Amino acid sequence: MKFADLHLHTQFSDGTFTPEELVLNAQKKGLACIALTDHDTVEGCARAAAACANVQMEFIPGAELTAEHADTEVHILGYFLDTQNAVLLERIGKFQADRQNRIHEMCAALNKLGVPLKAESVFALANCKSPGRPHVARTLVKEKLIGNLDEAFERFLKKGRPAWVPKTKMSALEGVQLIHQAGGLAVMAHPGLNRTDDIIPALVDAGLDGIECFHTKHSTVMSERYLEIAEKYNLLVTGGSDCHGFSKKAPLIGTVKLPYEHVERLKAAKKSADEKRSAAK
Ligand code: AMP
Ligand code: ZN
Ligand code: FE
Ligand code: FE
Repeated sequence: MKFADLHLHTQFSDGTFTPEELVLNAQKKGLACIALTDHDTVEGCARAAAACANVQMEFIPGAELTAEHADTEVHILGYFLDTQNAVLLERIGKFQADRQNRIHEMCAALNKLGVPLKAESVFALANCKSPGRPHVARTLVKEKLIGNLDEAFERFLKKGRPAWVPKTKMSALEGVQLIHQAGGLAVMAHPGLNRTDDIIPALVDAGLDGIECFHTKHSTVMSERYLEIAEKYNLLVTGGSDCHGFSKKAPLIGTVKLPYEHVERLKAAKKSADEKRSAAK
């Protein structure tokens, strides 16, 4: 049996692995195919693709877009993206700039609370265009301004806590369209995490291609529920570990094993979407 892990992060967003380390770990887990889905960026895809090619592993270039629908945050995974697509790069560039501004705002809020964290230190640690709260938390720990990452979120960074700053999000409908115009397939990420079932019909109307049925934080019951929803709306089925690299436990990569037949269906859908697009030209 061949398996895939289609939800992975690297240092190009808030993961700790380089693309090469990610591929090495995928190889150790015996995966046949991986997708890179960093938050609001495709920067790591070229290196991950090259590392995969070296070990004859199949690679799908992707991203995880931060979006919202009806005041609910929803993450949209894009697969088979053209990572050079000008519209995609321009649009996610704007969200990367907003993420950078947000780091300044979070640091200002921390400073007001008497925690002397500098935005420059966070940027130095993050060393990527798409920084987020995990980088703030890690810098706080590194500078011994707090005991550990959980404490950083609990005291300061969780929604509603004093240094929490909301993130600018595109609409979920725009996310789907942005992915499509970049040649990609749009998939709703970890629906069980955000309890966003009621927005699924609207996303389907907007052209959603698939739904992430298998995810680290989905129970078996949840996965079964989303498999039924996939069938009901004729959506593709995906799955992935959402590995962010090293943590207190072993890296998550490969702990969610998507049977390869789903990758074959994704590839068939990509091919037919491409054919439709070129026929429409
Ligand atoms: P951001 O995109 O900057 O809002 O950060 C979101 C990321 O922070 C998520 O992908 C999680 O990995 C991480 N995160 C969110 N809440 C917590 C928490 N309570 N403890 C640890 N990490 C968290
Ligand atoms: Zn993340
Ligand atoms: Fe997510
Ligand atoms: Fe993720």
